[in-house]
Amino acid sequence: MELRYISTRGNAEELTAAEAIINGLAADGGLYVPTAIPQVTPEFLTSLTTLSYEERAAKILALFLTDYTAGELRNCLTRAYGDDKFDDPRCAPVECLTDTNILELWHGPTSAFKDMALQLLPQLLGTALRKKGEERTVLILVATSGDTGKAAMAGFADVPGTKIMVFYPHGGVSPVQEKQMLTQKGANVNVTAVRGNFDDAQNGVKEIFNDAAFSEELLRQDVKLSSANSINWGRLAPQIVYYFSAYADLLKAGKIQLGAEINFSVPTGNFGDILAAYYAKLMGLPIHKLICASNANNVLTDFLRTGLYDRKRPFFKTITPSMDILISSNLERLLYHITENAAQVKAWMEELRQTGRYQVDEGTLAKIQALFWADWTDDEGTKDMIRLAFARENYVPDTHTAVAWRVAENYRKETGDSRPMVVVSTASPYKFAPHVLAALGENDLPEDEAVMFDRLHKKSKLTIPRGLAALRNAPLLHNNLCQREEMAARVLAFAKK
Ligand SMILES: *Cc1c(COP(=O)(O)O)cnc(C)c1O
Repeated sequence: MELRYISTRGNAEELTAAEAIINGLAADGGLYVPTAIPQVTPEFLTSLTTLSYEERAAKILALFLTDYTAGELRNCLTRAYGDDKFDDPRCAPVECLTDTNILELWHGPTSAFKDMALQLLPQLLGTALRKKGEERTVLILVATSGDTGKAAMAGFADVPGTKIMVFYPHGGVSPVQEKQMLTQKGANVNVTAVRGNFDDAQNGVKEIFNDAAFSEELLRQDVKLSSANSINWGRLAPQIVYYFSAYADLLKAGKIQLGAEINFSVPTGNFGDILAAYYAKLMGLPIHKLICASNANNVLTDFLRTGLYDRKRPFFKTITPSMDILISSNLERLLYHITENAAQVKAWMEELRQTGRYQVDEGTLAKIQALFWADWTDDEGTKDMIRLAFARENYVPDTHTAVAWRVAENYRKETGDSRPMVVVSTASPYKFAPHVLAALGENDLPEDEAVMFDRLHKKSKLTIPRGLAALRNAPLLHNNLCQREEMAARVLAFAKK
C-alpha cells in the first residue's frame, strides 16, 4: 500500500513521498507528515542485527518511501553511506561505556550529525526529480551559521539535476567551518560570504524564496528553487534509521534482551533529531523516554514542562551553537501527531507567528509528557560534563553531546529510572576542539587548528576525522563576498552558469 503525506495545517494536497520531498514545505505553510505510521514486529528488530547500516536503512525507509522502488532506494543508500564515505564502516556505531552508551552520528564527511540526513536527501531528491520527469535544474539555497552549509554542499556536490548555493555571514562562522566550506569540490556548488550576521544571510534567502517575480525569472532559465533545511521529509526519514540501528547494535552486543525498553537523550535544536526518535517509538521500537536536552536557549525545556512555548526571551550564544535556536520548526509535526487536529496546529503556529508564543491544553501536554522528559544545562555544566566523561569513562564528547549526557544524568537522578541509556552524539569533538580542550584544562590554546587537532589527538587518542585532517593541505576553491542587497543577483548569476 502506498503511504501518503499530508500537511500539518490541513490545507494542502495529499502527496506521495517523492512529491513531498520535492515540495519541502507544504503550500499552506505546514510540514508534511505521513498519514499512517508503519508498524514493526519483534522479528523485524531481530532481523536488523545481522545487517549493515545500509541494509537496515533500506528496510526501514522502504516502509515510509513507498513510491520508491527497492532498486532506487538501494542506489540512493549506496551513494549516501557506501563507498567509504563514512570513516567507520558501521556509519552510526554505538560505543558501550560503563555507565552509558554513545550513539556516534559524526563519522560522515563533515564530522557532524547533519551528514546522516544530508548525504541521503540529495539522492532521494535527485531520484524523485527523475521519477517525476522534472527537466529543470533544482537550485538549493541555504543560509548557514556553520554546520548545515558544509554538510549540504557535501551531499549535493555533483548530484545530477541539482545546484547548491550556500550563504554564510562573513566573519560569523568558525575558521574550521569556513575552511570546510571554501574547500568544497563539485562543479555545481557555490558558497558566498555575506557582509552582515546570520540573520542577514537568512533573511536574504527568505526574501529570495518569497519573491514571485524572481522565481519567474529563474524559471525562464529552467531553474527551480528548493531548500534543504530540516523541515523536508527527506531529511527527517533518514534519521529514523539510526535509532533502530542503535537498538539492533545493543541487542547484538547482548546489552539488552529483545523487547527491553531503552532511553535516548538527544541534544536538541530544531527538534528534528528527537522527532525521528519519536517516529521510531510510534513504529514499535521499545523506547521508554525521549529525553530532550537543551542549552541556555531552553525554550523546549520550558515548553515540555509547562505547555507554554514562548520564544520571547533573551538569545544566548553558547559553546553549543547548533542548539542556539528559539524556534524549533519540527515541533509542529509532534503537535500534529499528538492532537491529530490540523486546525488546532494551524492556530497555534499562527499565534506563534503573531505573538511569539502559544499554550497547549492540558490534555495535549499530558500526552507529550508521557513520552518526553526535558532539561537543560549551561556552558559551565557542559564543560564540567566533558571533564567528567573523560575522567570516568576515558571518552571525550563534543560540547553538544556533553549537554545530552549531562541531562541524561539529571534524568537518572531525578527519576531513578535505570533502563539502558543511549546518549546521542551529534558532532566529533574535533569540530569544537577549542571548547573541548579548554574543558579538559588545556587553556594556553594555539590559534592554529592543526596544532589544536594534534593536541586533542594526544589527549583523546581519537583518530582525527579524514575530512578535518585533509583541511591542512586542501586548496581554497571559493572566494565570493557580497553585500546583503546583492544576494539575489548572485543567485541569478550562478543559476545561469
Ligand atoms: C543540528 C545539530 C543539533 C540539533 O539537531 P536538531 O535536529 O536541530 O534538533 C545538535 N547537535 C549538532 C552538532 C547539530 O549539528
